[in-house]
Amino acid sequence: MRRIMAATVGVGVTLLASIALAGGAVDERGWINLFDGTSLEGWKPAEREDPGTFSVRDGAIVAHGRRNHLFCVGPVENANFRDFELKVDVKTEPGSNGGIYFHTKYQDRNWPDKGFEVQVNNSYRRDPRKTASLYKMEDVDASPVQDGEWFTMHVTVWGKHVTVSVNGEDVVDWTERQPPSPPSGMPRRLLDSGTFALQGHDPGSTVYYRNIRVKPLPVLVDYHVHLKGGLTLEQAVEMANWRRMKFGIAENCGVGFPTTNDQALQRVLDRLAGQPVYQAMQAEGREWVKMFSPEMIAKFDYVFTDSMTFTDQRGRRTRLWIPQEVEVDDKQAFMDMLVARTVGILNDEPIDIYVNPTFLPVSIASEYDTLWTDERMDRVIEAAVRNGVAIEINSRYKLPSEKFIRRAKAAGARFAFGTNNGGSDDLGDLAYSRLMARRCDLTRDDLFVPKPDGQKPVQKKGLPK
Ligand SMILES: [Zn+2]
Repeated sequence: MRRIMAATVGVGVTLLASIALAGGAVDERGWINLFDGTSLEGWKPAEREDPGTFSVRDGAIVAHGRRNHLFCVGPVENANFRDFELKVDVKTEPGSNGGIYFHTKYQDRNWPDKGFEVQVNNSYRRDPRKTASLYKMEDVDASPVQDGEWFTMHVTVWGKHVTVSVNGEDVVDWTERQPPSPPSGMPRRLLDSGTFALQGHDPGSTVYYRNIRVKPLPVLVDYHVHLKGGLTLEQAVEMANWRRMKFGIAENCGVGFPTTNDQALQRVLDRLAGQPVYQAMQAEGREWVKMFSPEMIAKFDYVFTDSMTFTDQRGRRTRLWIPQEVEVDDKQAFMDMLVARTVGILNDEPIDIYVNPTFLPVSIASEYDTLWTDERMDRVIEAAVRNGVAIEINSRYKLPSEKFIRRAKAAGARFAFGTNNGGSDDLGDLAYSRLMARRCDLTRDDLFVPKPDGQKPVQKKGLPK
């Protein structure tokens, strides 16, 4: 029996491996193949252009011949991609021009009208825009790679941001302005959604494309937005729309803030009702668990807190961002206390997200990498994972570190992006969060989504006694 089981497992593994090579399969890191390596199934060239431009050879799509574009028309996401990462391995012959379109739409002839082109041009002289240019939006004048060598183009579109990296190095980081200003003659070069297309440029060009894989991304969310610095709810909603994002509007609730009881919580909910935003509660200090009823807390989409306010070992209320309240005479002892307080919060308090994670007071912040030892990181990560608490990747403080995020991902943690904006113009950018997501290869499954009614931490875990 055991041998039969083993044989069956063996067959399963072989089958999985062969499926992974085919178009449409999802690997464990969330990448889906769009090209099967042997045929143009799922791809369609423009019908009224030269039919001979595209062929498949040695596992690659070869673009060589008169102008034509090869559009992705396969079943993945119905070939309609809004936010995504795309990776394509590309190789050029000398003097070649090509490109990769996104947010485009099939058309039977001519250069695609809709969407953007990421340029492929290492040595084609007549066009000064070189490889990785986001054509006419952010141009690159010297190619980062050479002819005859495979390189990996990595295009990320998330919210209003487009990044292009080549062999792991960011080359282009472009943000669409509000209102958008497409180049003259290209009015449909606007962020939207659409499919991909490969370019066959001219008979003198030979470009190879292989390993074409996409990772669809969820709508970008800033879960940590405060209405402060004059920012109104109306402005925040408008900003989220033009940034192609969603915001979670968080009210600070607890000692020292206006919201200290259920009636005040209800006023917050009334103010946000009916708006296309998440309603969030930022639980302040450690006293919050005694100030509000579980029923009122559960009316919010999610609750978050940080470990920046606590009572230190000498019984003093400490707020880590206020230097006068922080006394660090023994750094190691301070760190051990901070880790213990953080683990205590994660264990005891019914929260969805741990925000401003691993924040250190200014007096020791420069020693972050040595003070946050592997062992300390793992204690916090273990408590977050065990309690189902997502970890914020905070773009204002650029926390936690990449190393922490990698360890947390490996341990099964989930992540939420937040800016914790200081005013009206620093919300929603999420540059650090997006960078970490790309570097640490986060997928949809790694990202926090608010829990439905009945599943919220305050309903499952209750408030501490
Ligand atoms: Zn906050």
